[in-house]
Amino acid sequence: IIAESGGQAERLLDMLRVIQNRYRFIPAAAIDQLADTLNVSRSQIIAVVEFYSFFHLNAQGRYDILFSDSITDRMLGKTELLEYLANLLHVKVGEVRADGLVSLNNTSCTGLCDQGPAALINGLAVSALDCAKLTEIAGLIEQQIPLSEWPESLFAVADNIRKPGLLLQTPITNGAALQAAFARGLPTTLTELERSGLRGRGGAGFKTALKWRLCAEADSDQHFVVCNADEGEPGTFKDRVLLNSQAHQVFEGMTLCAAIIGAKQGFLYLRGEYQFLYDKLQQVLQQRRQQGLLGDNILNQHFDFDIQIRLGAGAYICGEESALIESLEGKPGIPRNRPPYPVIQGYLGKPTVVNNVETFLAAAAIAVHGADWFTAAGTEKSAGSKILSISGDCGLPGIYEYPFGSTIREILADCQAQDVLGVQVGGPSGVFISDQELDRKLAFEDLASGGSFMIFNQSRNIFAIVQNFSHFFAHESCGFCTPCRVGTALLKQQFDKIVNGYGSAGDVAELEALCRLVKNYSHCGLGQTAANPIISTLERYPELYQAQLKNISYEPGFDLDAALAVARRMAHRDDPAAHLLQVEE
Ligand code: SF4
Repeated sequence: IIAESGGQAERLLDMLRVIQNRYRFIPAAAIDQLADTLNVSRSQIIAVVEFYSFFHLNAQGRYDILFSDSITDRMLGKTELLEYLANLLHVKVGEVRADGLVSLNNTSCTGLCDQGPAALINGLAVSALDCAKLTEIAGLIEQQIPLSEWPESLFAVADNIRKPGLLLQTPITNGAALQAAFARGLPTTLTELERSGLRGRGGAGFKTALKWRLCAEADSDQHFVVCNADEGEPGTFKDRVLLNSQAHQVFEGMTLCAAIIGAKQGFLYLRGEYQFLYDKLQQVLQQRRQQGLLGDNILNQHFDFDIQIRLGAGAYICGEESALIESLEGKPGIPRNRPPYPVIQGYLGKPTVVNNVETFLAAAAIAVHGADWFTAAGTEKSAGSKILSISGDCGLPGIYEYPFGSTIREILADCQAQDVLGVQVGGPSGVFISDQELDRKLAFEDLASGGSFMIFNQSRNIFAIVQNFSHFFAHESCGFCTPCRVGTALLKQQFDKIVNGYGSAGDVAELEALCRLVKNYSHCGLGQTAANPIISTLERYPELYQAQLKNISYEPGFDLDAALAVARRMAHRDDPAAHLLQVEE
């Protein structure tokens, strides 16, 4: 396994994945061998194993099932289906069955919200689950049929492209962007990209041409290009579709970037949940090598460049660019201090461009069609279009592309959403907008979004939504800095207390103070946005929070009287005076 990965410590995640697949956990002997061979300490390897949720120090079942726990999966009946399967297979959630055949658990959003409820079985996605499908799956497991012999239909994943726009309607032909760029000249192509106003599509919106220019101008013997395909924001799945249907163009955008910044090596960091795309993407890379669009002397321009695909292992934080680079280097994905920014010191300390899948797709299109074509759509500050992943309460969930400046109302009409309570724009780290704000616009100057667009109708409970998001952040905090590690856990606890009916006015004040603390003092974007679901719903629905509260200044977060029952038994005292109720009276 080590030899297949070239014996490089940076490939540690690849090695661990193969070991995990083979043994169902990472045995101590494997850790020792990796440590000796890679010259990395044993504790460092254990730190990596413990950091990523797809690696385990204890054996999982031969069939390891992880149910996607996104709010939209829950809205589609995930909780009941999980229980149904647990009963069928006689296994408890979070446990391995005694015979070792199967284990069952939850995982964060798997990027299949347009066709949920979804799950991963030994890393492979199964979607649109219902009782019939789960009964079939349980039967295959009990018969111990290898996954490779299961009906292909079980693993079908649809693209669901509902509304193609600027980019999806006009895919480029292979090599067109590179040919156009070399014909125009690389410096002029970068100027064209600058003129297009393209901004990063991951959500932050940094100017793409400026990023490329800063990296190109950074003095170094090596430069790198990284495509961030770790779209872990719940409700986002557009990169899954782009990589399935337009991978050539994404790789072409990466190659264009490499030509401009002087990189010889690129990486596609693919989220572990999209393992089912891995072989197909490798085939696309191979085709491009055969077409002379990757490898040595690309298009006879004395330009060498190739791309490796690296799989993540279930850590949302690796979507943050510096955490992603740490992960690429075979370490836990803990965000770095910035500055220095990756364009100056990125992968292996060398200048590195990290861009989202959609950004590379757009860059390739701009190289072919020009800046004017791109700026003809969108607004002054947000040129071009945005690809959205639409899920939740609507008739047609899927992929939609809109020119920036489109209103939320227009989008809701297209996807057949009715009786809308609100929309979570940009995923849990984004903002919840109410039905009073439907004329707001999709644009960096109004509602910026990485692409997640979750719709909730009037039958939904705001608290259930926010609770799901709060639990998500507490689970995904990487634990590096105290405001986020402790703060997200406290937010979750405090919010649960209110949802469970133990909240008081004092608790809401404390919740608001906690939100400010986590937002202002956390090290990276995860912590800085973790309180957004609470802040945005508190602002919009103060009356709902008030209605949920008890009219006293303090209430414990649990049933204190019941909790003291054990102590009362031990003290042989269970008379009325021993109960808290008596104190209140
Ligand atoms: Fe890690 Fe959270 Fe701190 Fe970011 S804010 S470094 S995710 S603990």
